[in-house]
Amino acid sequence: MVCNMQIAMIEIVPFNEDITCIKTATEQDGSAIMFVYAFLVRDALFDVGCANAIDEMREFAGRNEIKHVYISHSHEDHVGCCKIFEGRTTIYANELTQRVLRDPPQYGEFFNYVWGQPEPVSELSLIPDNFSIGPLNFEVVSLPGHTMEMIGFYEPARKWFFSADAVPLPSKKKIAMPDENIPQMVATMEKIQAMDIDILFDSHRGPIESPREHIQTRIDYIKEIQRKALELHQSGKSIENIQQTLELEGPWYLELTKNRFGIDFFIKSVLFDKVVVT
Ligand SMILES: [Zn+2]
Repeated sequence: MVCNMQIAMIEIVPFNEDITCIKTATEQDGSAIMFVYAFLVRDALFDVGCANAIDEMREFAGRNEIKHVYISHSHEDHVGCCKIFEGRTTIYANELTQRVLRDPPQYGEFFNYVWGQPEPVSELSLIPDNFSIGPLNFEVVSLPGHTMEMIGFYEPARKWFFSADAVPLPSKKKIAMPDENIPQMVATMEKIQAMDIDILFDSHRGPIESPREHIQTRIDYIKEIQRKALELHQSGKSIENIQQTLELEGPWYLELTKNRFGIDFFIKSVLFDKVVVT
């Protein structure tokens, strides 16, 4: 199933006069395994796409003036093309994200196939709390849960919010990474629900207009699994038993992630993790 022939995909989709969506992925059987979005906002780039599409992104960057790069978090699908910009464009990231960018972990065969392995980058700048891109003024918003250091970018006058991976696909959210804090992720989504947002720019779904219902569906989905899992846990059921009773099944690739993702991590997190930042 996992072969070495990787065909990269890039799709450039203009959204409005300020924003262009840049979707990158690896192709499998003629379609994208999964797209990740970077967003060109006037002359700034929010995240940079996956490493398998580095040639395509380099070509795009050569045709467009990109003066600044802002990174949401260190996961390889979001930062794989940083190397293109090093030394010629300011790359902003917070301290914890910078640490991973300077010395990225080896993500393994499956993730190399899906996204590609990022190269280390060292010329990085600390992201400020606020920044402007022409007439647009962005606030950096902390989005802990998926990773504790993830941030999003909010433009309150336009009511745009670039939310990175803060709002997961419900179908995906039966699996987690060991360092994901699912109750914290729900608290972060509830924080987003309290913000005044017309368009949510999600890193895997793209722009979502009037996103309130979309986000609520995700919150309700996780809370329902959490409620049932807690009930079973209190009646003495094991993690494995809870998984079986709730019929939580992973996606086709779960085994291939070699324990980077697991259903058990998800169940343990909903049962035991606490909200640490509100
Ligand atoms: Zn991520």
